[in-house]
This record gives sequence, structure tokens and C-alpha cells, in this order.
Amino acid sequence: MPPKKYNSEEERKAAAAAKRQNVRQQETADQRAERLQRDSEAKRLKLDNETAEQRAARLLRKAETSRSRIDNETAEQRAARLLRKAETSRSRIDNETAEQRAARLLCKAETYRSRIDNETAEQHAARLQHDAEAHRRYRRPTIRTNAIDLANIDEKEIIEFYCGQMNESCEFCNSLNFMGERPPDRKFSACCHKGKIDLPEQDYPEYLETLMNGVDHNINIYSHDRHGPAGSVTDARASSL
Ligand SMILES: [Zn+2]
Repeated sequence: MPPKKYNSEEERKAAAAAKRQNVRQQETADQRAERLQRDSEAKRLKLDNETAEQRAARLLRKAETSRSRIDNETAEQRAARLLRKAETSRSRIDNETAEQRAARLLCKAETYRSRIDNETAEQHAARLQHDAEAHRRYRRPTIRTNAIDLANIDEKEIIEFYCGQMNESCEFCNSLNFMGERPPDRKFSACCHKGKIDLPEQDYPEYLETLMNGVDHNINIYSHDRHGPAGSVTDARASSL
């Protein structure tokens, strides 16, 4: 039988796809498993052998396909996609080791940090507004609603927040701060207002003194760095860990 002539490349591809689908419908479970195994090995081999350029081109194509699919999806498809994504992510998180968890959180914090460091003035303003709105939404529930929520809380539903390790030191007062809280100019405000506040040594009321010196072990979270600002919030966080 002579090879069939097609009017267009699309027609040829459609015919090939139909034929493939037909063959697949006939295959047994074993044959299917074998085919998938073969395909995944071939794919693996191809990936292992690609050059940096091929890799970049492939990732770009992939991103474009994904972008275009997302742009064209219906509300239902979007909801289904987000649900699938959340489930995959949940299941990966449920099964990760302590090391994998630490690595994931660090990577997340670094990504966040780098996004903040590289954002434009507009993106910066948009993020602050978004955060403020999220904060308001979170704060709005009455005490009564909060009580109900707490009773029915499912820890797995809580969105994880990680702002990195607390090893970012303020250049002015040496307070330790979370990486995720570092402003783009790397100057912290929460402790000494970017070095503007420099309190002299002075006597404090006894109660404050106790809090800051950490003599009482029930309240020693306020250990005081004599060279830093008196009892700054960041001091408190540093010594509470
Ligand atoms: Zn400071």
C-alpha cells in the first residue's frame, strides 16, 4: 500500500495521533506500563544529554505552553488546577524528611528575599498594599468567630509562613532580625529606626530592669543587649529562640 498523502502537516499529525490513540486503546495494562516505562527512560536519556542551550529552550517552551494554557483556562479548569497543585504540594510536604523541610523553607525564604530585593517601586507599593489588606482580613473576625475557628482548626489548612533564619544583624545596633523582614536597603527600622535611636545608658524602673536583664526565668525573653537599644523588639525575639 502506497503511503497516504496528506493535504497538510496538521492533517498528518491528526492522523498519527488518532492511530496512536487507537493502538493505545488496544494495549493491555502490562503493555501500557511497559510503554510508560520506555517513554520515561527515553525522556530521562534525552534530558541527560541536552546542552545548556537546549535546556534553556526547552524550559522556555514549557513556560510558554504553561502560560498560554493558564491564560486560556476556564474558571473551573483554574479551580481544578489550583486544587491539584495544593494537593500535590500538601502530599509532598506531608512526606518530607526534616532535612528536606529545612531545605525547602530556606529556599522559599531566599526566593522571597530575592523577589523583594529586585522589586520595582510599583511592585513594592503593590506588595505592601496586598500585605496590609491580607492583614486586615485576618484581623477582622470578632473574638467569637476566632473562638469557633480555634475549636475547629485543622493545622494542615494553615498556610505556612517562614521568614527565614534570624541571623540578619542590624548594622547600627546589632539586633538580630529575620531574613524575610530585611528591607531592600538592608537597614532595619523595628529596632533602632535605621540607627536614628541610640539610647544612653540609664536606670530603668525595677520591673523593666528585670525584664531586660532576664533575671526572672519566667520572663527572661527580654534579655538586654547593653550595647543595643533598650529592650528592643528584636532583642526580645533573639533571646526567645
Ligand atoms: Zn537597629
